[in-house]
Amino acid sequence: MMTREDVLRELELLPAWKLRVQTESVEKSEKTVAPEAAPVLAHRASVETMDWQALQACVKDCQACGLAKTRTQTVFGVGDANADWLIIGEAPGAEEDKKGEPFVGQAGKLLDSMLASIQLKRGDNVYIANVLKCRPPENRDPHGEEVKQCEPFLKQQIDIIKPKLIVALGKFAAQSLLNSDDTIASLRGKLHSYSGVPVIVTYHPAYLLRSLPEKAKAWEDLCLAKATMRNL
Ligand code: URA
Repeated sequence: MMTREDVLRELELLPAWKLRVQTESVEKSEKTVAPEAAPVLAHRASVETMDWQALQACVKDCQACGLAKTRTQTVFGVGDANADWLIIGEAPGAEEDKKGEPFVGQAGKLLDSMLASIQLKRGDNVYIANVLKCRPPENRDPHGEEVKQCEPFLKQQIDIIKPKLIVALGKFAAQSLLNSDDTIASLRGKLHSYSGVPVIVTYHPAYLLRSLPEKAKAWEDLCLAKATMRNL
């Protein structure tokens, strides 16, 4: 069993922690697509009845918001569709958009280390998904309309996976899931619930890469998650 010090030391050794890394490389030359009139949420009702395969196909072909025009591909999620642990981030970045898998950039490396610190591994009883399935151009914050269009997909993923515990990474995922405007500082350290599934909120790995002092708090959150899972 790793001690808190072991984990912090190990994380410290990651080169990414030492750099002020912008987790997803921003290509300034990329064009931003002008917001368009929101399409009707036509897919919402049918998404609720989809199985995993149908849901994957639906996400792949989704044209419900302007991000469909700028993405390379959709990023559905990765891991074990029967996982007890569901980790939810914000949206794909440049690397994820290229590879079609969530958290494969610097933030992803850190996420893997965070998971390892509580004896978890990507793909092994863990599923990783994002609130948005498409990359917002220039890594801007997701727009409300994009979240609204994408929400049914995550909801259905949660319904199918039936995780025992959800870990929300960062303010955006936490606020979207919990339908809250509260700050991450006030949301972390507590047990929340999403449709009866316990939710723990912690800092987004991309934020931790820039804010080293918060590492210790993230470690506390992971310990709370582990303890919560143990007591379920
Ligand atoms: N940040 C996220 O929130 N999700 C990813 O998949 C990558 C970076």
